[in-house]
Amino acid sequence: MWVEEWGELSGQLVVVSGPSGSGKSSIVRAVIESHKVDSVLSVSETTRDPRPGERHGVDYFFTTPEDFQLAIERHEFLETAVYNHNRYGTPAKPVFDALSSGKLVLLEIEVQGALQVRHSAPTALFVFIKTPEFRSLEKRLRQRGTESDRIINRRLRTAREELAEAHWYDVHLVNDKFDRCVSEFITLLKSYGPGG
Ligand code: 5GP
Repeated sequence: MWVEEWGELSGQLVVVSGPSGSGKSSIVRAVIESHKVDSVLSVSETTRDPRPGERHGVDYFFTTPEDFQLAIERHEFLETAVYNHNRYGTPAKPVFDALSSGKLVLLEIEVQGALQVRHSAPTALFVFIKTPEFRSLEKRLRQRGTESDRIINRRLRTAREELAEAHWYDVHLVNDKFDRCVSEFITLLKSYGPGG
């Protein structure tokens, strides 16, 4: 995808990142479910195993490392990243289709992928969600109860690295109060999205 083509798309691209445990998935979901902004959420491909309750095609497209590699070779991704030994990628076509029809498209992706999008789509809005302090991030990860201590410690290390990248994002939202963070995000998207 050539950079020039981005200017011709009538929709808006919004990239959301934040350390694991920042609550960004729940915030993005609450924003979409509020129906206060007309937006679509990109569904990524990943090679990681589904967590309990996750649905193929809704939370992720769960795929094998071999199929993921084939999709890379066919240039099907807008960006890809390795996160905690698993691969993640944003399928490009649904994003371009939605942007071409004037929609606001949300990508919830980690920082390496967000940097790639910044290079190819400089007009996108980049939003970073963080918790007020590192300890509360750790508490949320442990409360979620879906991963072992070893994995949580690895995620906390990654979170420290991700926080170090927050500085180049356009907007920082602090998830100290969930509802307030959701409404701040809705206000931001309304002012930025089509017709805003
Ligand atoms: P999880 O495995 O906890 O669902 O996601 C791990 C991290 O990967 C999160 O920071 C999430 O935002 C990010 N992620 C999910 N999908 C993608 C993607 O398509 N590309 C990139 N770069 N990161 C993704």
